[in-house]
Amino acid sequence: MAAYNLRVCHLYGNLLNTYGDNGNLLLLEYYAKKLDIDFSIEIVSIYEEFKAENFDLIFFGGGQDYEQVIVSKDIQTKKQELTKYIEDDGVFLAICGGFQLLGEYYIGAHGEKIEGIHALPHYTLSQENNRFIGDIEIYNEIFNETYFGFENHNGTTFLGEGEMPLGIVKKGFGNNGKDHTEGVVYKNVIGSYFHGPLLAKNKNLALRIINMATKKKYNQTFSISQLND
Ligand code: GLN
Repeated sequence: MAAYNLRVCHLYGNLLNTYGDNGNLLLLEYYAKKLDIDFSIEIVSIYEEFKAENFDLIFFGGGQDYEQVIVSKDIQTKKQELTKYIEDDGVFLAICGGFQLLGEYYIGAHGEKIEGIHALPHYTLSQENNRFIGDIEIYNEIFNETYFGFENHNGTTFLGEGEMPLGIVKKGFGNNGKDHTEGVVYKNVIGSYFHGPLLAKNKNLALRIINMATKKKYNQTFSISQLND
């Protein structure tokens, strides 16, 4: 039996899973194993109940607008528990479409308004006939860490009060191509537009996410050297 256990929710994992975002869970699982952490993943999707107390980590990936509309409707039934989870310092990684849906709303590529859960105060507009596509590099001053990835989104997101960016854009577009922010950090929530998947090139961030979860549950953190072979 492993020394630790993290119960992971893959939110709408069968609907929102573009550009290899599921790889984030594979990477977290791989690193968790090295740290003697049992990592049990459960998909919670449409018509299923989400209970905040059942999970130590949530992963919410990106997707096409079509799936986002379906998820947008269902997620309203989970809004209260998800907000409670976030406010209780639950660890949450949300990518692209998932990141957008945690906010107030997202205007889809055809002008449709896709409602978020308003757990975080950002909102997302759409660009006319344009997508932000390409390699991206950001720097987080507080963590003193640089993250590398690949972005591909139509949405332009604007952060609200109390939200910090995951990093300042050094190369690429980021949240909206204007204010140099990329992603979000709010309590133990990390949101980002990085695909690739995000954690493939950013072991430091993967460890940070595992540490947030084990600190909360076991008051235990690990060092990067423990992830090396
Ligand atoms: N449909 C959203 C957008 O284009 C999210 C895309 C994604 O998750 N890659 O902004």
